[in-house]
Amino acid sequence: MIDSAAASLPTSADVVVVGAGVAGLACAKHLAAVGVDVVVVEAADGVGGRVRSDVVGGFRVDRGFQLLNPGYPEVTKVLDVPALQLQTFDAGVAVARGGVVSAVRDPRRHPAGVLGALRFPLGTLGEKAALVRWALASASAADLRREDGTWAEALDEADVRGELRHSVVEPFLAGVLGEAAGTTSRRFVDLLVRTFLRGTPGLPAAGMQAVPDQLAAALPAGSVVTGVEVAHVGHGPRSLVVETPQGGLSTSAVVVATGGEAAAHLTGLPEPGAHDLGTFWFAADSSPAPGSREKLLHLDGDRTGPVVNSAVVSAVAPGYVLAAADHRALVSAQVLGADVGPDVEAAVRTQLARIYGVDTRPWALVAAHSIRRALPVVAPPFEGAQPVDLGEGIVVAGDHRENASLQGALVSGRRAADAVLTGLGYGRRPAVLTA
Ligand SMILES: Cc1cc2nc3c(=O)[nH]c(=O)nc-3n(C[C@H](O)[C@H](O)[C@H](O)COP(=O)(O)OP(=O)(O)OC[C@H]3O[C@@H](n4cnc5c(N)ncnc54)[C@H](O)[C@@H]3O)c2cc1C
Repeated sequence: MIDSAAASLPTSADVVVVGAGVAGLACAKHLAAVGVDVVVVEAADGVGGRVRSDVVGGFRVDRGFQLLNPGYPEVTKVLDVPALQLQTFDAGVAVARGGVVSAVRDPRRHPAGVLGALRFPLGTLGEKAALVRWALASASAADLRREDGTWAEALDEADVRGELRHSVVEPFLAGVLGEAAGTTSRRFVDLLVRTFLRGTPGLPAAGMQAVPDQLAAALPAGSVVTGVEVAHVGHGPRSLVVETPQGGLSTSAVVVATGGEAAAHLTGLPEPGAHDLGTFWFAADSSPAPGSREKLLHLDGDRTGPVVNSAVVSAVAPGYVLAAADHRALVSAQVLGADVGPDVEAAVRTQLARIYGVDTRPWALVAAHSIRRALPVVAPPFEGAQPVDLGEGIVVAGDHRENASLQGALVSGRRAADAVLTGLGYGRRPAVLTA
């Protein structure tokens, strides 16, 4: 569990994990489960890294809109998903285009969605057929043997064009990937499409912070120390030394589980590129979407502003409104880039007014999150897992070693734990851990 006082920093441990994001915590969980004495040192005031939640103005708000997809294989292996009480979105999107909002749902999960999909006003029947063919082919061909390229090229090749592409596919993928230019690896997009077809993303009832909190709760008391920034990792006379302003720790192995930028600083690895994101959270007097569409992700099919997606988060996860007697709605709006200044906010309000067909001027701004380096760039050729063992007891973990997702972070944590155990002479872990 967590110790916030830097005073509780021990002077040694078998293994030191730098960073209590999802990757570092998953790594520590695997190590602790086989009896390794592990200490996680975290610079921030709490665990979670890019997965944090706050309580603001009577709401629970995540630091950046993000979802947990239970279709990620590693999620079900490492997390106790039922305990998170995942509040799932409806599998589909609501698209505002030319003043009309239309909804489309995955027909496999919503039987009435077949008719809805055929009647969906955007795109010709040929375009709809091309989109379905692309999605099914992406899902089945999701492997790393295919020649890679960009997702824009993949859509061109599959003849996914016209309104469906412009108003639905591109804004949807832009929100997931953090870029609208179509430059991300098609192989990575294939992997994502496969997980979207496998599982419906949702939010833990207690906010996204419940994910890292659950991982941290699995660790022995005192094994996570927050508020301590690691300045340097180096070799002492008889061990590795992790240096912090509060003192040093000697150890046999270090897992650098920071984001890509700090990992480059601490290990000398090249710094990976990353996309910035911003999220606005607004309070409305009541839900701006009709009940039939409340649990869908909302897109602006006209693409006339910075918003790539929006959601009535309180309709999906009512626990994000803390008081039962409070009937306000919490609405998220995600933008590309980290600018969440007043001009962007004004443009976001205008765009949300079109998306929901309501006056958004009275909405109160609850929070605006500017998130630098939210998602690592996954450019072609995407080779999948990158080496984690840098030698001499130093191992690296984090989504930048795997792919830009919680799945990537969790897998990198497991791979780092395996590398540490092999390096320490434990051999591989005895079995795949479950929650
Ligand atoms: C806005 C947003 C939306 C997202 N949407 C989704 C989504 O919908 N689905 C999905 O699967 N993924 C999503 N992601 C991606 C997902 O959150 C990340 O891939 C994952 O959280 C990365 O975890 P990590 O442990 O690799 O890195 P991080 O979470 O960055 O953790 C690194 C930790 O290291 C700490 N640290 C850094 N330097 C030091 C130091 N010198 N000393 C000590 N500690 C240090 C940091 O404080 C941090 O806690 C989203 C991310 C963001 C930001």
